[in-house]
Amino acid sequence: MTHEVLTAESLKAFPLPVPHEGSKDERGSALVLGGSRSAPGAALLAGVAALRAGAGKLKIATVESRAGRMGLVVPEAMVIDLPETPAGGVDGARGTDCLLKVTKGCDALLVGPGLVEDEPTTKLAVDLLEALPDASSILDAAAVCGLGAYAEAVRRHEGRMVITPHAGEMAQLLGRGREEVEADPLDAALKAADLLGAVVVMKGAKTWIVDPQGARWLYEGGGLGLATSGSGDALAGIVVGMLARGLEPLAAALWGVFLHGEAGRRLAASVGPVGFLARGSPARCRTCSARRR
Ligand code: AMP
Ligand code: MG
Repeated sequence: MTHEVLTAESLKAFPLPVPHEGSKDERGSALVLGGSRSAPGAALLAGVAALRAGAGKLKIATVESRAGRMGLVVPEAMVIDLPETPAGGVDGARGTDCLLKVTKGCDALLVGPGLVEDEPTTKLAVDLLEALPDASSILDAAAVCGLGAYAEAVRRHEGRMVITPHAGEMAQLLGRGREEVEADPLDAALKAADLLGAVVVMKGAKTWIVDPQGARWLYEGGGLGLATSGSGDALAGIVVGMLARGLEPLAAALWGVFLHGEAGRRLAASVGPVGFLARGSPARCRTCSARRR
């Protein structure tokens, strides 16, 4: 099977829902479950990106020691504090009950950015999929690594999930070596899509997007500057924002990869090849090209 190159032209087959007059509920409610005591900002980056992608409402669920400050730095979000392990991660075992109470009404779910990798966290992600049969989801980072053990449960949600691993996370998911994944990322993406029944975004200098039926797109990269801390969290946030707005998982993944990559290209042209930040760079004044402060 051949692949399609992801461009603005090929995205015309996946039109964005046009926002018309109506309440914020119309553009959906996104929930970001992420962050840990040592990496609280990942959930922040993802949450803000979800709003910038047009989601109507945002909830961020994170460890209790960081939740209060999260609410202050992202005043647009409703923040949910979750029980924390001694190591400073979300306590997946105790967190489930607490989360199930607040996730009702959520249209799209992102689990992963900044979570500490452990088994209960993966189980928590799988339990949430079960508890939210009408929501779409995206799993990233630590939430992807252990998913292989839950393949059967995850497959029951075919048609409503995206995963966004880099090569190291994909290697853990499939039980392959990282070099093996890097040598043939398309093969790894197809295997994971088949295993989980999910849309797979296999990130790297070039990014493959594949669906469980074997359709495949290649995005030829937004430039080296995107390879920086927090960049993947922003991508995951854009995708959950698109899911909240009602896009199907494949369309949300394609739009997310494209918008994230094009932002990288534009920043490279205006700022330089590296050195811009996942949180966004100061906007340039269009008329005088000075930085706005
Ligand atoms: P993460 O590793 O989760 O932070 O995600 C990194 C992001 O940067 C992904 O969107 C990758 O596709 C992108 N990326 C990684 N390496 C490169 C590279 N060498 N050139 C361009 N983009 C990259
Ligand atoms: Mg990442």
